[in-house]
Formats: sequence, structure tokens, C-alpha cells
Amino acid sequence: MKFNTSLLHNGFESERSTGSTLTPIYQVSAFSYESAEKLEQVFNNRAPGFAYSRIGNPTVDSFEKRMAAMEGGIGAVACSSGMAAVTMALLNILSSGDEVIAGSGLFGGTIDLFGDLKKFGIKARFAESVTAESVEALITERTKAVFTELIGNPKLDVVDLRRVADVCHSHGIPLIIDSTTATPYLINPLKYGTDIVVHSTSKYINGGGNSISGVIIDSGSFRFDPERYEGFEEYKRFGKYAYIAKLRNGLWRNVGACLSPMNAYMNSVGLETLGLRMERICDNALRLAEFLDSVDGVEVNYPALPGNPYYELVQEQFGGRGGAILTLRAGSKERAYRLVNNLKYALIATNIGDIRTLVIHAASTIYTHSSEQQRISAGVYDDTIRISVGIEDIDDLIDDFRQAIENS
Ligand SMILES: *Cc1c(COP(=O)(O)O)cnc(C)c1O
Repeated sequence: MKFNTSLLHNGFESERSTGSTLTPIYQVSAFSYESAEKLEQVFNNRAPGFAYSRIGNPTVDSFEKRMAAMEGGIGAVACSSGMAAVTMALLNILSSGDEVIAGSGLFGGTIDLFGDLKKFGIKARFAESVTAESVEALITERTKAVFTELIGNPKLDVVDLRRVADVCHSHGIPLIIDSTTATPYLINPLKYGTDIVVHSTSKYINGGGNSISGVIIDSGSFRFDPERYEGFEEYKRFGKYAYIAKLRNGLWRNVGACLSPMNAYMNSVGLETLGLRMERICDNALRLAEFLDSVDGVEVNYPALPGNPYYELVQEQFGGRGGAILTLRAGSKERAYRLVNNLKYALIATNIGDIRTLVIHAASTIYTHSSEQQRISAGVYDDTIRISVGIEDIDDLIDDFRQAIENS
């Protein structure tokens, strides 16, 4: 199956009893059984079925299977938000005293999360950008994971997956990639040596900007040695499913980070048009970047633009497509505000991956909790505008940006 066919059919078991073409919204909390014995079996994973929607739900299960199929993983766990997915993916393997190597250009919420984890004894060591060399230099005997975004939001640095994965594996450490901004349309990170992928599915997977959600997908290829990874002993019998089994039976269910059936449904609907949207959005982003690059007095950053430091890697890893985000430096904070306020079509909002073009002044919003140093490391300056390009007609978008820049 090619990409768009796969979005519709891969991992999707049609509802055999009703012929339903989409998995309906099972908006219920609990599932009843004909006997106490049967519920006991379901509860203890000895018979297929669902018991309680915090632990499992058919609509959510359908979305998870489709995401696992699209990423080429052995299983997926859907979460209430992208941040829940990031948190659960990490805490499933970390204990007090452990260290994580992370990119300094990460999404603001994730940087804040590492601050929160400090008081539980988990320390993040930040690499200015995640490369084989920077990771190698930061590894200690306490390092238990390397975590970064494939295309940094909003730094727009791109990770060379194979090289970084090789270094991780030579030290017995898993590579966890937040692939939100790349999506399975640009790449399947698991095929490039990544062990675990997370997405904020609130963004491109959903596509319509209508549901907060996240997902964790496991390759099944990293073996968590119980000697190094606390709590894996009892999951050894699950073999390559140990990570997912531990997550499902442990922290994820006990925290209650489950996805609601309604939001899982909205995501499944959105997922089906991911290919069409991404094709259009990436084309629009490149065209807009080329236009902005030709304008005096503003500076554009887009990884697929010739001359960008990641241009070659974008050709190699993503077949030339650079995703939907670009950043623009307007010269001063005041001009950035004027420019943003002048735009007619782009909405001023803190989101990405919507079908509508969205803009935000990053320093005064997403990075307001960060230090000056953290902001600069994340590629966020006082005059930086982040643009999440939508599916509007590109001529309209270019005209809109032209007038907004001229009048700012
Ligand atoms: C938005 C985002 C998150 C957080 O996702 P939520 O669904 O908002 O919780 C994590 N990582 C990246 C790269 C994001 O863009």
C-alpha cells in the first residue's frame, strides 16, 4: 500500500457486525459481561475485550492500531495530550537518579516538563543541537534515554536519525523521537533506528485543530535490561512487547492519561487526509518561504530552503519536504507585533498543524516561562514570529504576507 491508501486501510478493521466504515464513538465508561468469570478474564488480559475506558476503549484502540500501522510500530498507546505522551513515554523507563539527554530546541512545554522532573530526581542534560557528537559527549553511566524532536519546534533544526540512533545503541540507550512536526508523511523514524516515537496528535494528525491528544508508538526493537531499567523484570515475559505492556499496565493507566473516545474518533477522521493536507501544506510552506526569502528586512528560516544548514539532510531523510513550520525575524519585537496584527488570513493562536495558517510571537507566549538563555537556545528571539502554514491558496497567503510586511 502507498501512503494515502495506507491511511485509509492499514490497521483498520472495519466493524464486521455492522459494516460501519469508521469505528464509531463508543462514548461509554464501562463494558458489561454475561458473567463474573468472563469479566475476570477480560480484566486479567486472558480474553480479548474492554472493561473500562481509562484502560481501553474500542474507538481509542482503533486509532492506536492505525497510528501503529502508519509508523510501522508493534503497538501504540494513545494519551490525553501530546504532553501526556511525552511524559508517559519517558517515565515508563526512568527512575530517580536517571539522566536524559535532550535537545535544547524542544517545544516549550517539554522544556518546562524537564524542570518539573528535576524534583523527582530525573535530570535532563541539554545538547545545543542533537547530533552523534553532542550526544556522545553528554552520555554518562546514568543516561537512560535520548529524547528530542525530529524537526525542532520552533528552532527547526533537523536530527540525523541514523547517526544519532547508532550512538545511542552503542551505549545501550534508547532513542525517543517527538515526530509531531514531521508526521509519518515525511518519515517513519522507527525505520531509521528510532526506538520509540511520540506525537502530539493535536497537530497534524488531527489536522482540524479540534482535539488535544497524543500517542506513543514502540518499535519493539529496544530490549530494556531489567538490571538497568527498574520495573522491567515482571514484563520480561512480554518479549518485544515489554515496553508497551509496562506502560499499559502501569503508569499510563494509573495516572489516567487516557484519550477520550470522541477525540480518538476526530483523530481517526483527520488521519485519513494527512497525506493530502501535508502535500499541500509542505508545498505552501516552501512557496511562502521562497517569497519571504526574497523580501528585504525580514529573515526566514525553513529547513527545505536552499542554503539552510539542514537542506541536505531534508533531501536525504524527508525527500525534500520541510514540513509546515517556518520562522520569520522581523527586526524588532514592535515590528513583529505590527506584522502579525496586519495579517488578514493568518490567525494569531498558539497551535500548529491546523489547516488554517496560524502565527504567534513565540518569546512573549510559548517561551514566557523560559530564561533568556533557554529561549535563544530554542531559536526564539524578541523579533521571531512562528508561522504554521495552512492549506489556503498560496497566492492569497503570499499577498497577505506581502501587505503585512510592507505596512509594518
Ligand atoms: C504541541 C506539541 C507538544 C505538546 O502537545 P499537546 O497536545 O499540546 O499536549 C509536544 N511536542 C511538540 C513538538 C508539539 O508541537
